[in-house]
Amino acid sequence: MTDFRSSHQAAFYLSGLIDGDGWIVVTPQRVIGVACIDRDIIDGAARAFETLGARYRRRIQPRSPHKDLFVIEASGRNSFAILASSLQLVHPLKAKKLSALVASYQSFGCRSCGVDLNVQGPGCPVCYSRHYARRTRRG
Ligand SMILES: [Zn+2]
Repeated sequence: MTDFRSSHQAAFYLSGLIDGDGWIVVTPQRVIGVACIDRDIIDGAARAFETLGARYRRRIQPRSPHKDLFVIEASGRNSFAILASSLQLVHPLKAKKLSALVASYQSFGCRSCGVDLNVQGPGCPVCYSRHYARRTRRG
């Protein structure tokens, strides 16, 4: 794969990958990742993260019998801010999680995932119990 011609192209490439096979985790640890058995696709993701200026780590997960799984994960507050402002995710839950990821660094909010206390952070157990308690109190 050749280099990306622009940060827009890098962002489109990553958006498609993450919308499809990627994951965005807000809690317990914050990470945006994608995995594929095709090394070239993950090489492309690495170049796209570099083009956008996001920090990432790669690993290879051995799978039997012949195909390894190539994994790449971006992390860090700055990386998430960059990705949130450049990716255009179509998957509704993933788009929500990307916003929650950025919001989780703000100082007021859920003590676990950091989202505004009126919002329920996707997959956050602390948010879940807070909102559950609220519903129960209302009867
Ligand atoms: Zn939360």
